Amino acid sequence: MAQIELPLVADNPKDIEELREEIGPLVHMDLLENLLNHARSRSLWPLTFGLACCAIEMMAAGAARFDLDRIGAGVFRPSARQADVMILAGTISRKMATPIKTLWDQMPSPKWAIAMGGCTIDGGPFKYPGQYAIVEGADKIVPVDVYVPGCPPRPEALFAALFKLEEKIRAGKKFNK
Ligand code: SF4
Repeated sequence: MAQIELPLVADNPKDIEELREEIGPLVHMDLLENLLNHARSRSLWPLTFGLACCAIEMMAAGAARFDLDRIGAGVFRPSARQADVMILAGTISRKMATPIKTLWDQMPSPKWAIAMGGCTIDGGPFKYPGQYAIVEGADKIVPVDVYVPGCPPRPEALFAALFKLEEKIRAGKKFNK
């Protein structure tokens, strides 16, 4: 039987965290986890939350013409405590960075983040040398799972991002803390 060699002492919490990631869970309920991942991927609950013009496209994706309910992602929650997907849609001004982090921390795990639009990915048209007003990328605040390029991306692009996220969840790729 293969032996897992563990160091006897993990000096600091970072070491322990790295060890946990390396080893994974001691008991692995494969069938149950697959089932849960499948259920999670088909019942995404986004946070009702928009930052700028990209949010208009996100709202369009939820409305009748495109209808996010068709893929089980139309139940936008008014409370972060009931949501498992944060769609960051729009320019992130510096003053919004702290509220975004607070909302993210309030969301229960497992949870996922989608960066929608050029502004959210890296500052978009508002990125230039010496700018002081915006955060140049959502990944500086929360761990992003899927990026949606465009200015603004169309609702179809958001659907594609959600499909990509569903695939990722079903594959059990990452559960953000
Ligand atoms: S990417 Fe374009 S549409 Fe989206 S928030 Fe920025 S400027 Fe507005």
